[in-house]
Parts: sequence; C-alpha cells; structure tokens
Amino acid sequence: MITKDLSIIREKLKQGELIGLPTETVYGLAANVFNSKAVASIFTTKNRPTTNPLIVHVASINQVRALVKRFPEKASLLAKHFWPGPLTMILPKNQVVSGLVTADNDHVAIRIPNHPTALSLLNQLDFPLVAPSANPFNRISPTTAEHVDAYFPSIYTLDGGPCSSGVESTIVGFEDDEVILLRHGAISMEILESQVGRLLNRTAASEHASLPGQHKKHYSPNCQLIVTYEPLFMLSAIKHKKVGILWYQSVPIESIYVEVNLVLAPSGDLAEAAQNLFSALHTLDKMGLDLIIVERLPAQGLGNTMNDRLDRAATQ
Ligand code: AMP
Ligand code: MG
Repeated sequence: MITKDLSIIREKLKQGELIGLPTETVYGLAANVFNSKAVASIFTTKNRPTTNPLIVHVASINQVRALVKRFPEKASLLAKHFWPGPLTMILPKNQVVSGLVTADNDHVAIRIPNHPTALSLLNQLDFPLVAPSANPFNRISPTTAEHVDAYFPSIYTLDGGPCSSGVESTIVGFEDDEVILLRHGAISMEILESQVGRLLNRTAASEHASLPGQHKKHYSPNCQLIVTYEPLFMLSAIKHKKVGILWYQSVPIESIYVEVNLVLAPSGDLAEAAQNLFSALHTLDKMGLDLIIVERLPAQGLGNTMNDRLDRAATQ
C-alpha cells in the first residue's frame, strides 16, 4: 500500500511494524531501532542473513551522539560537509544499540538522509529507524514507492517520489587518523577526498575488502546480466536470445537482434545515470528477457559506484 499520510506511517512504526521509507539513495524497509522484534522482522521479510548489519537513520548529530561512544574529528568534518546526505559512517556503538542491528559488531553504521519526507518523519519520532534497502535479499534496489509496493504489497510505503541519487550511500570507517572507504556509493571517492584528503580504499573490489555483508551477488534481475564495454561485440556471440541492452549515453547501432535498447544518461552526466540505473533495470527485468547486456560505465566518480553494483548484479 502506498500512502503520503505521515500519521499512518508513524502509527505503524510505533506498533512495531515495518514501513517503506523514501530516502535520496533508494527506498528503505524501516523499523524502530529499539524494537528488537521489529528489527528481527526486517531480516525475515527481506530474507536477509542476520550477519548483514543494518544502517541506522537519524535526524540530527545529537541523535548520532546518543548512539555512539566516540565521534572522531574526521567524522565531524565529514558530517559538516555531507550530512544530511548519502554518506554512512561506521562508529563505535554504545550499549543502547543492540547487536541484532550491527550483526554483533561493536560498531554501528549511521547516516542522516537528505530527503524532506524522511527528515520530517524522523523528526516526529522519538526513535531512529533502521532501514536496509526495501528489496528481497539479492534483488534490484527500489527507487520509487511503486517498486517497493511491487515487492511488499502488504506493507505501507511512504511515497516521497523517485529517489534523487538512485544508488546506495557511500560507507566510510575510521582507523586512527585515517578515513577508510568501505563501499562505493552516491558520493564519489573523489568528492570525499576533496574534503578530507586521501582515503584508504577497502571496497569490495579492493584486495583488502573488510566490510561485513559485502556479498558478491546482489541487485540481480531474474535473467542473466552481462556488463561489458562492448555490448554489440557480446551480442554477436549470442544467438536466439531475447536481449535488452542498457547503454550509458546513446545507442550506436540499432541491431535487429536486440528486443529493447535503453539509455541511462543522454547528457553523459554520471549523476543522471546513477539516478536512472535501478529503475532501468526494473523496467528491463519486467520484460521477460533472456539476457540483459549493460554497457560498463567510465571508471571514475559515480561510474565506479555503478560498476560495483553492476558487477554484483552480473554475479550468478
Ligand atoms: P544496505 O542497507 O543493504 O545498503 O546495506 C548496509 C551495509 O552497510 C551492510 O551490507 C554492510 O556492508 C554495511 N554495514 C552496516 N552496518 C555495519 C557495521 N556495523 N559495521 C560494518 N559495516 C556495516
Ligand atoms: Mg541493499
């Protein structure tokens, strides 16, 4: 069910139920962080392993301070520049955060979302919300209320329009005086580095990957997906299949062997491509194709974030 009525959503959350939450990244499946039963039901509803920890969403820095033991200086600096926004910070938790939320880690992932509807809801609640993406485990992330409703029709989803970033938050941790990049996301590594200097890269693609819950397979459509710089070259090797191609900027040649061509960002703007990525995958996923071929994005800025998601969508 889709609603714009904040009072319904508030009531559901107070009763310990899950709701669909709009944010600027993707829609979340949200619950009261302090209600263990509600938190547990996030894992069962999504079919998500309990070893995969959840991100806590709050409305203010004061609410962050209530959940953590320490707030490193570099975290303050990042918060000043990027909160509210699509940056998640891993911080040492205090005893009010249960191990169920953090998969028994002594650190908790926290962010302040930059979405007016999410912020007004959070400001009206006296508890933060845990909210992983509102998709069954391994499936394509939702970027509209309708995507969430198609996955979970019996849950109330708060309609906040299409997500403006369209990909998940960037995740960073802290060690001594270093900032560690743990997941590529809606804020590019380059933009973060322009504010805090060099980051240590320990994302899934790096050999030092260390983040819990960084499953290789994720974001998958129902059919096979291939990511390549040369979609038409791949096509020539495949016969008798119903194929859709997702292009970055334009369609170079209209091949008669292609059922559907979609373009992510005619302007070439990577932010526009990120905004459209999951939505385009949902569209292709509904077409009953045998194969989706996606043109790999340039390996810079948000291109790295999208390539990370696509490589995981391509993992069988
Ligand atoms: P999702 O909400 O599905 O975008 O995923 C949240 C991701 O954040 C998890 O899969 C982990 O990779 C990361 N994460 C969340 N909480 C923690 C934590 N306490 N420590 C380290 N990583 C975390
Ligand atoms: Mg997710």
